Amino acid sequence: MKPLLTTSNHNRDVAGLKYVYPVISRRAGGLSIGVNFNPNNACNWRCIYCQVPDLQRGNAPEMDFGLLEQELRFFLDYVQHGDFFEQFNVGIDNRVIKDIAISGNGEPTSLIDFDKAVRLIGEIASESGLFTSSKFVLISNGSLIHQSTVQAGLAELDRYHGELWFKLDSATETGRKLINNTGQSQQKLIEHLTIATSLCQTKLQTCMLHYQKAWSDSEKQAYLALLRELSNGGIKLQQIMLYSLARKSYQAEAEQLERLSIEEMNAFAADIKALGYDVSVSH
Ligand code: SF4
Repeated sequence: MKPLLTTSNHNRDVAGLKYVYPVISRRAGGLSIGVNFNPNNACNWRCIYCQVPDLQRGNAPEMDFGLLEQELRFFLDYVQHGDFFEQFNVGIDNRVIKDIAISGNGEPTSLIDFDKAVRLIGEIASESGLFTSSKFVLISNGSLIHQSTVQAGLAELDRYHGELWFKLDSATETGRKLINNTGQSQQKLIEHLTIATSLCQTKLQTCMLHYQKAWSDSEKQAYLALLRELSNGGIKLQQIMLYSLARKSYQAEAEQLERLSIEEMNAFAADIKALGYDVSVSH
């Protein structure tokens, strides 16, 4: 019997392919077809809640475009015309392709020829009729948006009305150092958000957790202040997506991370909503 695909089973090897993997996503509410550009488990950040095993610093390796095309065509056909849902014991309620998501074991925009990969996925998914009811999503930490190939990839994403889910776990430089182990400056963050929102629909995805000073009251105020600044500057975000730790971190800090209560997350969501933003909470 094939493994049960549940919202807690996010093993990217479950379908036995290199780049393409299925996830039953609680955030998406059905099947998310993931495309992993980082089979080498390499990322330019090291988030303390990261669930990538043996995470290393680095970039995505060179893409085998022939294999990506072959895997994606095979897998889409398997789901749309085969017995994928039966074979993997997917519950009736989840038997819908909610999205195709470029999201993997590292930062996808670090791929050389990133734009070419987005175009290829967009073309294949479009040919398969996916975009009549499913979304095209790119999950990224947004740190490489100054690169021309990344911007070209965002423009490709936009051709299919795709969405960028831009990671923002703290509105302060010290907070991002603590949570994401990145030295991203405030200026760079705002520049990258400005570029992103000018090229495609952009949502913020924010992981809320307690760890040292992460998500203290002053961190919350800084986040709200940034949202105010973005809105005043005409930077249009489609939505703010708050989520809590869903699965165990593979990082050294794992044991010290704590989930926020749903009450605390909902209270913060209400503060964001009061600024005029659409906000979702996934606890
Ligand atoms: S950006 Fe994503 S892949 Fe990279 S360390 Fe953070 S959670 Fe892991």
